[in-house]
Amino acid sequence: MEIIDVSQVSYAYGDGSMALKDINMKIESGEKVAILGPNGAGKSTLFHLFNGILKPTSGTITVNGMEVCKKNLVEIRRSVGMVFQDSDDQLFNPTVRQEIAYGLLNMGVNGKKLEDTIEWALKIVGMSGYEDKSPHNLSGGQKKRIALASVLAMKPKVMVLDEPTAALDPRGVHKLIRLLDSINEKLGITLIFATHDVDTVPLLADKVYLLDKGKIIMGGTTEEVFNKKEIIRKINLRLPRVAHLIEILDKDGILNADDLPLTIGQAKDFLEKNKSQV
Ligand code: ADP
Repeated sequence: MEIIDVSQVSYAYGDGSMALKDINMKIESGEKVAILGPNGAGKSTLFHLFNGILKPTSGTITVNGMEVCKKNLVEIRRSVGMVFQDSDDQLFNPTVRQEIAYGLLNMGVNGKKLEDTIEWALKIVGMSGYEDKSPHNLSGGQKKRIALASVLAMKPKVMVLDEPTAALDPRGVHKLIRLLDSINEKLGITLIFATHDVDTVPLLADKVYLLDKGKIIMGGTTEEVFNKKEIIRKINLRLPRVAHLIEILDKDGILNADDLPLTIGQAKDFLEKNKSQV
């Protein structure tokens, strides 16, 4: 069943700018979905609608069958955890323990259950032992892990991540992708992430929605979407680097590629299979 259903949603800011226009989207439970679009496409606005920070100007959003509206907000925010682009906007407590305890205490969790949940969340993100550190003195990658732990502690059904790889170094990106994958696989949490980082999308997403100027241009599997090269380029994005290389080799007649590999792993398999061509 779908965990998030967006139906005919539009959103206009107070100054009249239409950030989203007639958005329709169905996200199934357990999926890993990328919302891919250039700056200003409407990704952050859409995410703020998912957990009720903003209210649609028209249309409806349901989470787990429940409409995102004032009377359901507490339940919706428990179900949909937001991970902000800038961890410094998310982390405001003096210690990691207090940071993770904050939402739990608001939910009435305390005593041993509180301590156990903090320990559990830190273990998942690989940050056990950091309880008494200040979140502000951690590296960018560590801050992101603490932000994830504070959201995970609330046991959400969906995690919404705004540009999760922005500001991380290449190793940090690699580690974060592995962590998010395992959160999805082991805990069954649906992941929705906004990005314009086309190289990351095929490593994490199984479904992609292309968003541009407030409209969904296309949705489908990662392979389906990246095979529409003209559309990707028209909205000022590009193919993953490895796909671009194979596309050039195909154009130059060096090899014949009907479907472009999107990751280094896929390219390796592709080249091994097509050894005789190269
Ligand atoms: P993205 O996250 O894809 O970069 P946003 O959702 O931030 O896109 O922005 C979508 C559109 O809404 C842009 O045209 C942006 O200028 C506009 N916008 C965003 N926030 C506001 C605001 N607070 N007031 C007016 N317009 C806004």
